[in-house]
Amino acid sequence: MNGPLHLFYPTEYVSGIAEITPEWLSARGAKGVVFDIDNTVVPQDAPADEAARRYFEKLHAAGIKTFVVSNNAEPRVKAFAEAVGCGYCHKAKKPSRRGYLAAIRGMHLRRREVVVVGDQLFTDIWGANRSRIRSVLVAPLEPKKDTAGVRLKRPFEKIVFGFWKRRQKNS
Ligand SMILES: [Mg+2]
Repeated sequence: MNGPLHLFYPTEYVSGIAEITPEWLSARGAKGVVFDIDNTVVPQDAPADEAARRYFEKLHAAGIKTFVVSNNAEPRVKAFAEAVGCGYCHKAKKPSRRGYLAAIRGMHLRRREVVVVGDQLFTDIWGANRSRIRSVLVAPLEPKKDTAGVRLKRPFEKIVFGFWKRRQKNS
C-alpha cells in the first residue's frame, strides 16, 4: 500500500544538479528538464552565477531543453531565466500544475520526455506528481536561507523523505 504520502514521493533523489548530466538524462529518455530555481540551482534569491550558466549551456549543447518554474516573483525569475537562456513561469503557485503544463508546452515536449527537478516535496514534487511528470528531488543548497514559510515545512519533508527512502530500500 502506498498511502497518502506517495503524493509527495519523488521518482528519484540526487544530492545536487551536478549529478543530472546530459548522459543521466538520456539514460532516462528525458529531452527536457523543468527546474525549480531557489535552493535547487542557486541559493534562495541568488542570481545565476557562472556555474549555473555553464550548467545550462552544457544541457543545451547536448540538445536538452530547459525551463524554470518558480513560485518567486517575476523580476527574480525573469532575470535568472534570461541569464541561463531558458523559458520561465513565475509565481507558479506550485503545487499547482499550471507552471509545469506551461513548461511542457513551452518546450514542445510530451510529459514522458520531461523531468521536474526541485528541492521541496510539498511544492515541486507534489506539483510534478499532480501533473504526471517524473521528478527528481535534490538536497536544498542552503537550507539556512530558506524563507520562513519553507523552513516550517522542512521537518515534515524530512519525515516523508524518510518513508520514501525506506520504501526504496525495500523495493
Ligand atoms: Mg526551491
